[in-house]
Amino acid sequence: MEKGPSQRAEGFTESVIREMTRLCQAYSAINLAQGFPDFDPPDRVKSAASRAIRQGYNQYSTTHGVPRLRQAIAHKMSTYNHVPCNADDNVTVTCGTTEGMIASLLALLDPAEEVVIFEPFYENYGPDSILSGAKCKYVPLEEPGFKIEEEKLKEAFSRKTKAVIINTPHNPTGRVFTRHELELIRDLCTDYDAFAITDEIYEHILYDDRKHISIASLDGMDNRTITISGFSKTYSATGWRVGYVIAPKKLTLAVRKVHDFLTVCAPTPLQEACITALKLPLSYYRDLRTLYDKSRKLLLQTLENASFICTVPEGAYYVWTDITRTGFKDDRKIAEHLIKKIGVGAVPGSSFYHLPSKGRLKLRFSFSKMPHTIEMAASRLSKFKRANQRS
Ligand code: GLN
Repeated sequence: MEKGPSQRAEGFTESVIREMTRLCQAYSAINLAQGFPDFDPPDRVKSAASRAIRQGYNQYSTTHGVPRLRQAIAHKMSTYNHVPCNADDNVTVTCGTTEGMIASLLALLDPAEEVVIFEPFYENYGPDSILSGAKCKYVPLEEPGFKIEEEKLKEAFSRKTKAVIINTPHNPTGRVFTRHELELIRDLCTDYDAFAITDEIYEHILYDDRKHISIASLDGMDNRTITISGFSKTYSATGWRVGYVIAPKKLTLAVRKVHDFLTVCAPTPLQEACITALKLPLSYYRDLRTLYDKSRKLLLQTLENASFICTVPEGAYYVWTDITRTGFKDDRKIAEHLIKKIGVGAVPGSSFYHLPSKGRLKLRFSFSKMPHTIEMAASRLSKFKRANQRS
């Protein structure tokens, strides 16, 4: 047999989200597929980055993060997230939340250990689990409401469970899990001696006065939770690749070792600028929410007019839709039609499920854009007609 890629790498496909971005570029479509802003980080933060480059912060930094940044992150974790955190024992700065997640899984899991994942889930968790050799147990979040159901969650947990992956606010549904839902997870983690790995990258993007709750802040969880977040979404700097992992002391060394051999360190001058980001006033976060709330309402209205059935997001910046009433019966076909013929990008729903068939009638749109961009997309989508004949 001819030699080629590893079975591991053959075990998953390339990212559909990034593929849609390339297709949007090829057809000059407005990219509501990949979740990244069409505006810059605040001026103060950009200036801090260029200043850091000029001042000579251009070489490797401490592998697990610039000390002053780790201190600022520890302070933010204690005050915003209510999670006890120490810069030396608990914080590892990574190349984005993406690296934070894979480094955490590789540091925590042995092959064949079980991981509980809520479905639909952010695309990366699939390949992440394959790369770490974990065995996934999927717990469906069912419509309407995408709530965590106690019975289904209990069925997924067993003595073989090593960890559960949580993502709140949730990509793609926009759910913000309630304290009660997080307590259900906490109780099962305690009963089965399992860890929670929580991706909280959208922690500041919340609507209708919702509050973010970190599962690590719940009684008994700080010693069994790995919290992952970063600067990409909150500070509109997705290309900077600066994220972090907050882990109990007993796991931090393992996360740091994996991170070191994967990437050595996150970009040094950008870590310096992230210290400035963490000093922004509270009004910054309020303004960001107000902006996204406006884009959220515009996109919801637009999609409903175009006959999509929408789930109203409670947080994050995605609208999860059902395409049944559009006349299309295939997520991929409608995504390609929208990009090529209408000029608006979205992500086929099947890429958020382990069995693609479950997402055939779903499509995810992002509103991580200025309201003006959503208005432009609305004008294009107004040409989108019921298309039974084309499906
Ligand atoms: N989190 C974003 C999304 O879901 C983008 C992730 C990425 O492409 N790295 O679209």
